[in-house]
Amino acid sequence: MPTLVDRIRDLLLGQPDENNNNHAPAMRITVQCDCGQKITTRIEKAYELQEQYLPAADEDTPPTVAGYVLKKDLVGDCCHEPVRVIVHFDADKRVIDHSIEGGQWLSATECA
Ligand SMILES: [Zn+2]
Repeated sequence: MPTLVDRIRDLLLGQPDENNNNHAPAMRITVQCDCGQKITTRIEKAYELQEQYLPAADEDTPPTVAGYVLKKDLVGDCCHEPVRVIVHFDADKRVIDHSIEGGQWLSATECA
């Protein structure tokens, strides 16, 4: 019978997964709203990234995943203006590009 602490740890860290190619399943994005407030959010890559496909050569060829994109509006605690973030990932879910409206990009960190 796992303790509550064990279950919370599993929830936070995830179960060990041999299929994730050692890439972190989650990341942390920090931005700064135009009002000055810093906003940090956790991104679960498995759930929040949208797949982007290469156009298939013909109807019989399954589409190839070219990469992933994340679109997210972040709102600070004391502010109602969203910071709109778009992050592009390669096929291995590593950040390759980002754009932002309403604030400044500060950092993106892989969660260990
Ligand atoms: Zn703000």
